[in-house]
Amino acid sequence: MKPRIALIAHDQKKDDMITLAAEYIDFLRGCQLSATGTTGGRLANELGLTVDRKHSGPFGGDLQIGAQLVNGLIDAVIFLRDPMTPQPHEPDINALVRACDVHNVACATNLASAHLVLSQLQAQARKDHSKGA
Ligand code: PGA
Repeated sequence: MKPRIALIAHDQKKDDMITLAAEYIDFLRGCQLSATGTTGGRLANELGLTVDRKHSGPFGGDLQIGAQLVNGLIDAVIFLRDPMTPQPHEPDINALVRACDVHNVACATNLASAHLVLSQLQAQARKDHSKGA
């Protein structure tokens, strides 16, 4: 089964998300991707990725991704948060990260952890592929 990954980046982190996704582009093309509205728009327009775009974060997109996750439809969340800027939807952000903890879903909230999660998932996908899974 294709890995199901949610991608979210706050405004100051969106360029980092594009750079990160570009590094893993071949792997991400083989994944089922969800993203909040603006992040997803950039991933689609700038990298040509196919993304299930939810609402923008401040309009409930994080909660939509949280609902998907609670329903067992997300394997990992890459959530590049901006720790320096207050966000109007802080409660939604906390709810999504909490849902990851409740359901034991990997949640990378900075670039270093995002690389660890994506490289591990990529390695797993290659292993599965070579086994013909
Ligand atoms: P955005 O939402 O991708 O629509 O900007 C991200 C967020 O702010 O949580």
